[in-house]
Amino acid sequence: MKRHKILLVIGDGLGDRPVKELGNKTPLQVANTENIEGLRNSMIGLMDPVGPGVRPGSDTSHLAILGLDPYVYYNGRGIFEALGAGAILNKGDVAFRGNFATVDEDMVIKDRRAGRNLSEAEELVRELNEIGEIMGVKVKFYRGTEHRVAVVLSGEELGEHVSDTDPHEEGLKVRQSTSMSQDVKDSRTAKVVNELTKKVHEILRESELNRRRQERGLPPANIVLLRGASSYKSFPSLSSRTGLNGACVTATAVIRGICRALGLETSTPPGATGGINTDYLSKGREAARLLKEKDFVLMHIKATDAASHDGLAKEKVRALEGIDRAMGQVLNQVGEEMVIGLTGDHTTPVELREHAGDPVPLLIYTPEIIVSDQFSHFDEIQARKGSLRIRGLDLMNLLLNYSNRGQLFGE
Ligand code: ZN
Ligand code: ZN
Repeated sequence: MKRHKILLVIGDGLGDRPVKELGNKTPLQVANTENIEGLRNSMIGLMDPVGPGVRPGSDTSHLAILGLDPYVYYNGRGIFEALGAGAILNKGDVAFRGNFATVDEDMVIKDRRAGRNLSEAEELVRELNEIGEIMGVKVKFYRGTEHRVAVVLSGEELGEHVSDTDPHEEGLKVRQSTSMSQDVKDSRTAKVVNELTKKVHEILRESELNRRRQERGLPPANIVLLRGASSYKSFPSLSSRTGLNGACVTATAVIRGICRALGLETSTPPGATGGINTDYLSKGREAARLLKEKDFVLMHIKATDAASHDGLAKEKVRALEGIDRAMGQVLNQVGEEMVIGLTGDHTTPVELREHAGDPVPLLIYTPEIIVSDQFSHFDEIQARKGSLRIRGLDLMNLLLNYSNRGQLFGE
């Protein structure tokens, strides 16, 4: 039996609910997705990424889709953000997600994103990396996208059960981090975080870059707010669990980080932005290139989720059509001799503007003759009549099975 390659396309926040602006149709119903409909030999249906009714984050859901139970393996987003930003983590390192923000002299937050477009982020991160060490703990900052950073603490005896310094709201004071357990590791880590926050503010307050920002009427990036502490432990790689060597095409740091944690090669081709202005064909070309080298390629497209969070129904339709074009690009370059999975990591209904626990439409195409589902259009309504009804954790097994790569369980 021929072992097929596998392309898994994840439209972030793919599914939806009927939208008033679209005449009570869903964005998928309205979208022109001819390449997807061209995949006649497909099964369709619904997937609960984490579990029925569970509202997943992109991180927990991607872990499940890549075969790891998030209830066992997930302990916060910080480590994935850090890996996605290029950090090399060792066991016991504690990572945080961070934002450059603006505070006044009383440490009250004026702007959680320091104006959002922070063109000085790279240089500010360099200035902060002069700190080097706090209380014998190594500190390293990594630049994320826009105003985001990742911070990694390395040293003996660090804990991850510490509270955020980010109050998650403007008009409030920067919080003191506190230990959330009786463990001395956690109280020591909280102390390091508070010392670090003081030091960061001192450096940024004095920074020439911020003085120049203020001269131009821009809010100074004079603090880094920290949240989501998580401690690094290694994950069972995709190849050790499935035999697949894989790669991932994404422009989103946290997805890049998850894929790196699971041993996948990651790539962000030119023009891929992680937003609604992304270059879909560039992503398709890169996925096609990687499919020549790898058994498994995950092509992640964030635009659908970005449009949903902003409540932009028509942009979501355009993003779905972009996903269809990216898939068309792969099919043009690689042909139809592969197994294709197409789904979302969760639904993000545009009218809700946040993730929902609804099941996500799913399509599995196989080049071999099997019983396919009759459908004329890939959308939430037709997916309900399809034969698949699975959890995210089942998806890799289905893809392995239809690509003739499934391992025998028992004898
Ligand atoms: Zn997502
Ligand atoms: Zn989202």
